[in-house]
Amino acid sequence: MLQKTCPSCQTNSYSSTNNGMWICPSCNRNITTVKTYQNSQKEMIQNQLLRFSHYKRII
Ligand SMILES: [Zn+2]
Repeated sequence: MLQKTCPSCQTNSYSSTNNGMWICPSCNRNITTVKTYQNSQKEMIQNQLLRFSHYKRII
């Protein structure tokens, strides 16, 4: 799942692909060139790993 935040109205929009035009559903701005965020489990796992390594350091 890809996520973009519209720079005009700060609305998050989601898409499963990054092909073609991407129009903000709120203000209809063309946000095709806006950076996408990979809104996936990968990010969650990375955050958990960071927390885990921090935990190990404390011990
Ligand atoms: Zn917008």
